Amino acid sequence: MKKILFVLSGLFLISTWAFTQSQFSDVKMKTLENGLTIAVKEVHEAPLAQIQLTYKVGFRDAPEGRLEMPHFVEHILFKGTPQFPRDKFPLLVTENGGYLNGFTSAERTTYVETVPSHQVQQILEMEASRMTEVAFDPQDVQTEKNVVLSEVRGYAGAQTNQFNKDLFTKLGSKTRDYYDFEPRMKGIQDTTVEEAKAFYKKYYRPDNAVLVVVGDVKAEEVFTWAQQYFGKIPRPAQALVKTILPFSPLTQDLRVDGKGIVREPFGFRYFNFIPYSPKNRN
Ligand SMILES: [Zn+2]
Repeated sequence: MKKILFVLSGLFLISTWAFTQSQFSDVKMKTLENGLTIAVKEVHEAPLAQIQLTYKVGFRDAPEGRLEMPHFVEHILFKGTPQFPRDKFPLLVTENGGYLNGFTSAERTTYVETVPSHQVQQILEMEASRMTEVAFDPQDVQTEKNVVLSEVRGYAGAQTNQFNKDLFTKLGSKTRDYYDFEPRMKGIQDTTVEEAKAFYKKYYRPDNAVLVVVGDVKAEEVFTWAQQYFGKIPRPAQALVKTILPFSPLTQDLRVDGKGIVREPFGFRYFNFIPYSPKNRN
């Protein structure tokens, strides 16, 4: 299965920036006792719904020398669980004309499914299973190393790499390491099953996740299903301690060698990124 890796590219930032306030109207929110945050927006224009389960973990949380770990774990989640094995759960979605994918960025890892709305309940059951029951079979780990390596080799050729590296160096962000491809690939090769499993266990927990459902659903029904499937997952006794530092908010435009400008921050962490073009070269 092909999965998309969203790096912090101009396109991603622009799309974040363009997310207007009106799109947040009529959103119903709930937090389960175990800390899972749920947001539902009812949109009844078509008998479809999209489910997004986001874990607040990304490249910035990667262990030393293992930058690719969040992306790698994302891949392993597509190997399924005993209840939803690999040859069954993608078909739940695709056989009904749906779509599923996953992506990892600096700050988050998201799993997404677009399905006929009558399938939402089953998808929630599947995602709850993937939150805690992924097996990390050694054979899968080996196979996915090769897949992830191949993806990273593809990214290494992107024209924006040097710009992004300069940008994140200026921001003092660990994200700059993302653009050093040799150590990044070595980290994938050296990753052990135990390391990947420990990373999963540390970050894949209800109080580090946000479930979003948008579409032809009833919010109360989604909350009931979420309680039924995710509600039985206990909140770990130990609070999740993150050692990473957030980006410092920018107080003025940041210029990267005449190639682009980062403008003042949008919200807590996002900023408006203007990619290079003859028009904005200065
Ligand atoms: Zn990938």
